Amino acid sequence: MLQTATPAARPNLPLPDLYHRVEKHVPALEWPALAVDIAAILKLKREKNAVVLAHNYQTPDIFHTVADIVGDSLALAREAARTDADVIVLAGVHFMAETAKLLNPQKTVLIPDLKAGCSLAESITAADVRLLRARHPGVPIVTYVNTSAAVKAESDVCCTSGNAKKIVEALGVPEVIMIPDEYLARNIAAQTKVKIFAWKGHCEVHERFTPADVQEMRTNYPGVIVLAHPECPPEVVAECDFTGSTAAMADYVGQKRPARVVLLTECSMSDNVAVQYPDLDFVRPCNLCPHMKRITLGNIRHALETMTHEVTVPAEIAAPARRAVERMLELG
Ligand code: SF4
Repeated sequence: MLQTATPAARPNLPLPDLYHRVEKHVPALEWPALAVDIAAILKLKREKNAVVLAHNYQTPDIFHTVADIVGDSLALAREAARTDADVIVLAGVHFMAETAKLLNPQKTVLIPDLKAGCSLAESITAADVRLLRARHPGVPIVTYVNTSAAVKAESDVCCTSGNAKKIVEALGVPEVIMIPDEYLARNIAAQTKVKIFAWKGHCEVHERFTPADVQEMRTNYPGVIVLAHPECPPEVVAECDFTGSTAAMADYVGQKRPARVVLLTECSMSDNVAVQYPDLDFVRPCNLCPHMKRITLGNIRHALETMTHEVTVPAEIAAPARRAVERMLELG
């Protein structure tokens, strides 16, 4: 996991110390303007007993300054369930805010931009899931957390890229339906005896990587160690040295300390890991997630000032969706 911490374990530092953390990634000219928003957010968090949860794909100016809890989808879901704050600001995309709300029905959950969506979440609807169930009666539906609450509500259990294999095998059945990421499903199918039926959803960031990209990196950057997220196509994963969730990739870098490394995932992930390991050489092909990039220090501040945009989930969807997420947390 990248740097998951409880609010108490990740205290807010004075502004000069925060700048020191991110100075390689934030031009000095930009810092004074950013520092105004950061100071305002730190004050608002204290006043409103709020925490900021930031996904690994957030930019370093958010990730390393105002975030109280950081990590991958699984870490954010787990930590969201533990926080005693009254207000959660989700610096990530909409399905993550919904998951935080499912696990914290009594708390106020805010997302700074309602348009922060996800191509995977948008690739499938609750009606699609009902159709799949009708076509494959009795086959459990394992749903990636990158989905709407309505889709989770139709599912048996959720999974993340970090625990997908464990969840699939923990069900103890010969076949499952895994939705909506086709590539994650195919990459997990290659590691297990369980038969997996996949859906045709793709992440618009990871689907762009190709085997030729990997070969080119190996030519241009001799000795580079290539790590890939399992949302990449299986043909890409086959060319890599390691595949794992964002948390697993960060752990790999921390433990193995490869002198030169590339992370085939969203661009900001490398920047955030590089802050922790300034001695390593990170090759950075830059595939940005336009949805993650909708979140800024400015709209986090605005969210806390105006208490918008509040994320809610209708009770009839929340109960079954929560069961699917909680079952994942029990199994995975
Ligand atoms: S990186 Fe891909 S899976 Fe993650 S939020 Fe963006 S579009 Fe969705």
